[in-house]
Amino acid sequence: MEKKQFKTESKRILDMMVNSIYTHRDIFLRELISNASDAIDKIYYKTLADDTLNFEKDNYYITIASDKENRTVKISDTGIGMTEEELSDNLGVIAKSGSLAFKKENEIKDGYDIIGQFGVGFYSAFMVADKITVISKVFGSDKAYKWESDGAEGYTIEPCVKDSVGTEITLKIKENTEDNNFDEFIDENGLKSIIKKYSDFIRYPIKMNVSQSKLKEGSKTEYEDFVEEKTVNSMVPIWRKNKSELKDEDYNNFYAEKHYGFDKPARHIHISVDGSISYNAILYIPEKTPYDFYTKEYEKGLELYSSGVLIMEKCADLLPDYFSFVKGIVDSEDLSLNISREVLQHDRQLKLIAKNIKTKIKNELDGLLKNDRVKYEEFYKAFGRQLKYGIYADFGSNKDVLQDLLMFYSSKEKKVVTLDEYVSRMPEDQKYIYYASGETNERIEKLPQIEMVSDKGYEILYFTDEVDEFAIRMIMKYKEKEFKSVSSGDLGIDVAEKENPSSDDEKDNKELFEHMKTVLSGKVKDVRASKRLKNYPVCLSNDGELTIEMEKTLNSMPNNENVKADKVLEININNDMFKVLKESFEKDKEKLNLYTNILYNQALLIEGLPINDPVEFTNNVCKVMI
Ligand code: ADP
Repeated sequence: MEKKQFKTESKRILDMMVNSIYTHRDIFLRELISNASDAIDKIYYKTLADDTLNFEKDNYYITIASDKENRTVKISDTGIGMTEEELSDNLGVIAKSGSLAFKKENEIKDGYDIIGQFGVGFYSAFMVADKITVISKVFGSDKAYKWESDGAEGYTIEPCVKDSVGTEITLKIKENTEDNNFDEFIDENGLKSIIKKYSDFIRYPIKMNVSQSKLKEGSKTEYEDFVEEKTVNSMVPIWRKNKSELKDEDYNNFYAEKHYGFDKPARHIHISVDGSISYNAILYIPEKTPYDFYTKEYEKGLELYSSGVLIMEKCADLLPDYFSFVKGIVDSEDLSLNISREVLQHDRQLKLIAKNIKTKIKNELDGLLKNDRVKYEEFYKAFGRQLKYGIYADFGSNKDVLQDLLMFYSSKEKKVVTLDEYVSRMPEDQKYIYYASGETNERIEKLPQIEMVSDKGYEILYFTDEVDEFAIRMIMKYKEKEFKSVSSGDLGIDVAEKENPSSDDEKDNKELFEHMKTVLSGKVKDVRASKRLKNYPVCLSNDGELTIEMEKTLNSMPNNENVKADKVLEININNDMFKVLKESFEKDKEKLNLYTNILYNQALLIEGLPINDPVEFTNNVCKVMI
């Protein structure tokens, strides 16, 4: 037996790899299974090129067997095998890929199913094994050879006996240490779950002896254990199947199998693209909001496969944040993988796929809104807030994608409507898209500020999510119509003469309002006769960019800077209460001060804002009663 040395630099590479290329040591099994699958593919290509040969599908499979006592795991295949020279070349020279050479020799286009290309995957087995034995018999020969290595001291090759064509790789799994436990690699269930995770869609059967139990013959209570060989991988991934073969149930089952959620998906999108980049994808829009969806813990991303082999469990770059609720997988043969096959080399292809996926999701949602309103509204209830965050984020750069997907509750329709629906039924004289903000629809309905706008017959959108006003600020205009809060200074409504406070009135009342403003100094920017109130005595409006709802939201955030909206106390001069104010202005300033404070606090309460001193407020109310 001749002992050969690894080429000197190989030794270092081997060491480096075992310790640094891979982040997950369980991928060694993925690498060995991929090699086995490549080896079977190679026989398949040979039979394609040779009419005298036949490819009997049943004869081609991969077997995984573990032996707990001896701490070994054996990966066998019925693939093409290796000659003595190939064993030496392919397994003795690191970074030499026999598979890549095969692809070139046989002019197999990149992206065809053969997975190997870097010539390092095999050595990843040294992460978990301290000795590897490879027995191989090449197709068309009657000679078999055994290659063996402990990783550090080179390898040996010697002739041996093997009945059938193919390769058998035995790993002597490392002993456990204090920090490292390797038992999952000799455990039946451990191995099975690694196969399912990375290699579920390898095209050939991966067989394992699976222990099971059954009722003993003749007994109704006693069980006996037995071992049965089973295929553990699904082989054909659902996304490679023809859409016409698949039913909703198949998609739903895949969703459950993948643990995307406990709910049923609301929609699935099956994509097969063949073009400048080819990929298959199955995407899901879940029905229910995941419990952690609006928390920091929620991680967006799609599973990424390359030719049926799992590369990344959550590839975040495939989804924009505003579609982060989408679950699913993407499989492409066109990705440039880095050497560990755990990450991508270039993201050009990924960017193309991501762009394409974004459009597909958007189209799906557009279609849903158009064709199945009930379902869309359910979707919107679950994930609408995320779309609104999406508009607000990145300085509104995604508003064009998202604004037509928005829905708000309408004062007129008493249900949610889209912006397009709102604008399309706006009367000609209506200048703005009106909205009112508050905690709930019920509370907004009672806001004094909406009186004028609704009396005018205009529709008002109710904003009950904190993000609503912020998102709308980014949109600014929808179909040339600006948004206007019902609490903003100028509503842009022409009010009938008698309701509108005339300039004479204004002059008359000027001193009274000035006085009230002094009483409320630091609290309001101005006190004015209202142009929007009809029945209610008072309300607050805002004078600047920042609305009262925005003030509430910003101040509820951690590290808030205690921002304040410029508030205006509006007085309904047609209300009887106003006569009392006027009277007390003439006769009893102290009373006027008391009334002013009460009115201001009432306005705060209506807005859902805290009043500064509740005790003083209730005392004041009592004073009025006495
Ligand atoms: P890669 O798979 O990226 O080419 P590997 O280090 O995993 O790199 O394998 C090196 C080469 O060894 C492969 O390209 C292939 O030619 C050969 N090889 C590995 N495993 C097998 C196998 N089970 N059957 C036949 N050839 C194999």
